[in-house]
Amino acid sequence: MRKGSSSNGARAVTLIPGDGIGPEVIAAAVAVIEHTGVKLRWDEQIAGMTAFKRAGNPVPEALLKSLRATGVALKGPLETRVGEGYRSINVYLRKTFNLYANLRPVRSFQGVHTPFRDVDLVVVRENTEDLYAGLEHQITPGVVESIKVITARASRRIARFAFEYARREGRRCVTAIHKANIMKLSDGLFLKCAREVSSAFPELRYEEQIVDAACMRLVTDPQAFDVLLLENLYGDIVSDLCAGLVGGLGVVPGANYGDKGAIFEAVHGTAPDIAGKGLANPIAAILSGAMLLEYLGHQQAARRIRNATGEVLQSGNTLTRDLGGSATTRQMTDAIIAAMGPRTSSAADRA
Ligand code: ATP
Repeated sequence: MRKGSSSNGARAVTLIPGDGIGPEVIAAAVAVIEHTGVKLRWDEQIAGMTAFKRAGNPVPEALLKSLRATGVALKGPLETRVGEGYRSINVYLRKTFNLYANLRPVRSFQGVHTPFRDVDLVVVRENTEDLYAGLEHQITPGVVESIKVITARASRRIARFAFEYARREGRRCVTAIHKANIMKLSDGLFLKCAREVSSAFPELRYEEQIVDAACMRLVTDPQAFDVLLLENLYGDIVSDLCAGLVGGLGVVPGANYGDKGAIFEAVHGTAPDIAGKGLANPIAAILSGAMLLEYLGHQQAARRIRNATGEVLQSGNTLTRDLGGSATTRQMTDAIIAAMGPRTSSAADRA
């Protein structure tokens, strides 16, 4: 993936509306981003089930070409059929473009009622290996193997990403989460690499926790965590758990970073139960859009989106159903846009 801009100077970004609630929440994110005045040129591409149905291929060549050219994408969820059909497109894209770091900031919002207060943690998940390497086979009928791959290279790389992020963002602690008491070789290697990397960041506290104990502590004392460093599978599961601490999947954004590009996407999936009904909470996609703006250097525009989102949630007047209200996707998007104030007409907001 390579960064690109179009002839009129607007930065080109691949836009993947995706499946299920994807088109609804991505349209909301685009409307909010456009209201900041930052000029982007959206290169819209189909993928997943939508592309499979329309073009017979869930990962069309045009999509890959666009990603190679722009180096950055805002993406909706893509449907992957469980246990059959084509493999996960999400995993495929992350591996193809070597987007090795998945980052999910999880913060409490005033106005979103959950049993947990003041949660402010960041999940950093390794994105390219572990049980997601896709190495599964049948040994004999009734006996299958899935292979967990952990390498020192990928483990050091994700640990460095987590520590560098923590340093840059003024965080205080990185907790490596593992099951090395059982998987002594694989998780043992992951921990060894995290320890090595931690020694180069003396100002940051480094802790280790076994994944089951960490899950319990996350729901008894979530404030004890700051930056969480996890392998792929634990990261996937713990991300959803963490989303539950702050109001659910509708409010947690995410990003996949590589050395040469990034794809921004919410933690949630296609939510087929509410797809097409205008009920989806667009906040996770909107905040993923804010992360995209930050990545492109538009810090002030990103802050504006975050502040407006916080205001709307705090007022409690416009909440979607998942947050206990009755607002539609459109109403919540309009409320966020209104809270942002008048549309900015120039892109001169780089902070
Ligand atoms: P997939 O198979 O694509 O992961 P899923 O339904 O298994 O889809 P999610 O899409 O992550 O998993 O959704 C889990 C639950 O959370 C669903 O009941 C869904 O309605 C709810 N949910 C997810 N995202 C949102 C959202 N943005 N707004 C409201 N509810 C949501």
